[in-house]
Amino acid sequence: MNSTDKKSAVLGAEFLRHDTAAAESGVEDYLEHDAAVYRTLLESTRAIPWKIDWATMEFAYIGPQIETLLGWAPSSWKTVQDWAARMHPDDRDKVVEFCVAQSKAGTDHEADYRALTSGGEYVWLRDVVHVVRDARGEVESLVGFMFDISERKKTEEKVAALQRELEALSFKDGLTGVGNRREFDAVLQREWSAAQRHGAPLSLIMADIDFFKSYNDYYGHVQGDACLKQIATVLSEAVRPGDFVGRFGGEEFVLILPNTGAEAARQVVERCRDRISAAEIAHERSPFRQTVTASFGAGTVIPSASDDAVAFVNLVDTQLYHAKDNGRDCISAVNRAA
Ligand code: GH3
Ligand code: MG
Ligand code: MG
Repeated sequence: MNSTDKKSAVLGAEFLRHDTAAAESGVEDYLEHDAAVYRTLLESTRAIPWKIDWATMEFAYIGPQIETLLGWAPSSWKTVQDWAARMHPDDRDKVVEFCVAQSKAGTDHEADYRALTSGGEYVWLRDVVHVVRDARGEVESLVGFMFDISERKKTEEKVAALQRELEALSFKDGLTGVGNRREFDAVLQREWSAAQRHGAPLSLIMADIDFFKSYNDYYGHVQGDACLKQIATVLSEAVRPGDFVGRFGGEEFVLILPNTGAEAARQVVERCRDRISAAEIAHERSPFRQTVTASFGAGTVIPSASDDAVAFVNLVDTQLYHAKDNGRDCISAVNRAA
């Protein structure tokens, strides 16, 4: 132990000697014994005790465990500057500002931050700080414990990543991987509001596979599922980045095309229809060259403040029914942006 460490150990003993009842009774032996017990207890915990003198902003004590955790000897912790300097730059200003403000206000507090190790790495710490006042109520010192919370942080980060993953999954259709109904609702609401704000056109396309019940009956459900996946891929590849493709339910898909007028929407929906035909997915029971086809409803609108998105979805759905009525494998479109 070098001289500074000795000094810090002596100060530490004082810091720990807080059994005033014993001190007042003057039973020195008892006091020393008691302080030694406290000291042993404190220095054998994983939490790292410390004390800072408020007037000088110097460390009066820091537990030897700090060296095991961060690699810096107790003697190297001289002032609060050392504490601040060994903090991750991204945490430093916020944490120092917070701790100083709380200490000045005389409020006990805690702060999480990444502390620098002597090896150049960072360890997540939680500092729990108690403000000690003198008889006149002035702040005299700060005492506290540093806790290694790196394992907890790792777990928190894992949980957060899982949450993000779950959230993403909750917006995807489990079978095809395109957006699900939930995401469709969210995207439509967002794009509808944006179109209203900017007076921009918005187009919607609904697609329904023709004679899909007989496809399932003939090829079986597993093959039916494979067909749905293939159609989802074809549609996803037929749109531009920024367009939304989702499965509306069953064998129905829906596309949202932001900033897209009627003419551009017509090109997209024709491309979708052509590409599904061109994929030539065998369908023995279809009258259309025994391949899978789809019918399409399309609509374009520049929504006014009073227009309702649900009414527009219903309008496009009606177009889809027209396409079915018109013999299937075709497109029916409506333009409300003209
Ligand atoms: P139309 O040309 O009028 O659209 O006729 P359709 O047979 O395609 O329409 P209908 O509504 O009668 O049948 C839809 C079929 O889609 C029935 C259902 O079994 C099938 N289907 C819905 N969801 C799934 C799915 O997730 N997987 C499979 N394999 N089939 C599905
Ligand atoms: Mg259907
Ligand atoms: Mg169908």
